[in-house]
Amino acid sequence: MKKVDLVFIPGPGAGHLVPHVEFAKLLLDRDDRFLVTVLLMDSPFGTSPTPAYTKLLGESSTSIRFINLLPPLDFSPSQEVHKSFEKFMNEYIDCHKTCVKEAIMKHALSRSNSGLLAGLVVDFLCTSMIDVGNELGVPSYLFSPSSAAAIGLLLYLPTRHDEVGREIEEFDGDLVIPSYANPVPSSGLPEVLLNKRGGYTTFMNHGRRIKETKGIIVNTYEELESHAVKSLMNNFDGAPPVYTVGPLIDLKTQSEKLLFDVKERDGIMKWLDDQPDSSVVFLCFGSQGSFGEEQIKEIAFGLEQSEVRFLWSMRKPPPRDQLERPRDYNSDHPQEILPIGFLERTEGIGFVCGWAPQKEVLSHRSIGAFVSHCGWNSILESLWFGVPIVTWPMYAEQQVNAFQMVKDLGLAVELRLGYKVMNGEVLAADEIARAIKCVMETDSVVRKKVREKSEKSRLAVIEGGSSFAAFGRMIEDILRNKVIN
Ligand code: UDP
Repeated sequence: MKKVDLVFIPGPGAGHLVPHVEFAKLLLDRDDRFLVTVLLMDSPFGTSPTPAYTKLLGESSTSIRFINLLPPLDFSPSQEVHKSFEKFMNEYIDCHKTCVKEAIMKHALSRSNSGLLAGLVVDFLCTSMIDVGNELGVPSYLFSPSSAAAIGLLLYLPTRHDEVGREIEEFDGDLVIPSYANPVPSSGLPEVLLNKRGGYTTFMNHGRRIKETKGIIVNTYEELESHAVKSLMNNFDGAPPVYTVGPLIDLKTQSEKLLFDVKERDGIMKWLDDQPDSSVVFLCFGSQGSFGEEQIKEIAFGLEQSEVRFLWSMRKPPPRDQLERPRDYNSDHPQEILPIGFLERTEGIGFVCGWAPQKEVLSHRSIGAFVSHCGWNSILESLWFGVPIVTWPMYAEQQVNAFQMVKDLGLAVELRLGYKVMNGEVLAADEIARAIKCVMETDSVVRKKVREKSEKSRLAVIEGGSSFAAFGRMIEDILRNKVIN
């Protein structure tokens, strides 16, 4: 039987690849009429830590395959571009257009059991690949690992720009963005939307181009983001259909074991096994989150003041002016940067680690709360396991995620909403301690609401649930759009 092929184009890096692959796996499990080809872009900062991951998945199914794109030889970003991460990434991704088209023509269209290329599934960073879809005469779909509200923010940017004709300023005040229930303070927008080095224009263009797709597939569920989802459907002229297919959480493959060297996993889990139920606060700040020495000391004092047990994933910033990921401290002796005597004083009640197996940790009975940078995956994971969050956003769209969780949804305890790591602000120990004590309250309204959302997230993805149904609609629409094309 001839099958239809979908070509996935995630942005570079594990953070983009993993949600795309989770979505692809679900699609293949759900409907055997599909084949998936995933095009892999190297990270511009060196090879991504993904070969083991893609090899295992490629070997486990004949329906999914991975094709490594050759890094473009002619990519030579100017020094200017190096100063703006977003502009740099945008140019880097753009210059893959030719090799993406060649790879699709050479590989995806030549599969023996493939009848038709049904379309491209592109990351929100890869909207320029819509051009490749157009050249090949196939539709493109947007897949967003972020929230529906964040996609609404992208769609809002060109609408607003056409009205007012200028960039957003930090002191513009409250903005009425349809995908958020409350007005969003402009100072709390992601740094990238306030920077005039190309970030704003890059993302406004992504927002414009999203409307050219045939559908927006979002890693969320209606019961979590009902306001945002409604607004995407009703507030943006010409916006394509929205499919809420989440939460997509990889509970089976435990991809982090394949993606990262989780040396400390056993030690962490064993330590958690020895802790009382719901007694530990977990601090973890995503794949890029890190703090300098001064902030590390305040966190340490804050933990001591709170008198709450803790598991702290602590990572150090990359060298100045380098676009690299943070590194673990542990090999560099964390005691050298922690307050004197901290490790001794907290022995038995605290554990400091590097990269943590976050999902396993959040699922552990001993975890009572999570101090998080509010990356969307971390939010979905904490809600899935019913663990309330303290918001400490740092970069990307995390400030608006924190705003949505606290102000729109009442699902998190506010430490900060608009914190931006690059501003160099240092949060004081007593502020941190207060937020931790507050979130650890056992009968708080937030905790109760999080438990309810946890149940709803599990119901959404099973037969009869909202995300299950949206997934079915999406499949039928992809197949129908393919016939028309
Ligand atoms: N993660 C992890 N251990 C860590 C840090 C992160 O397992 O020490 C995982 C986490 O479970 C999540 C992903 O990495 O699945 C981070 O995604 P998120 O969207 O929260 O943040 P990002 O890294 O994209 O900023």
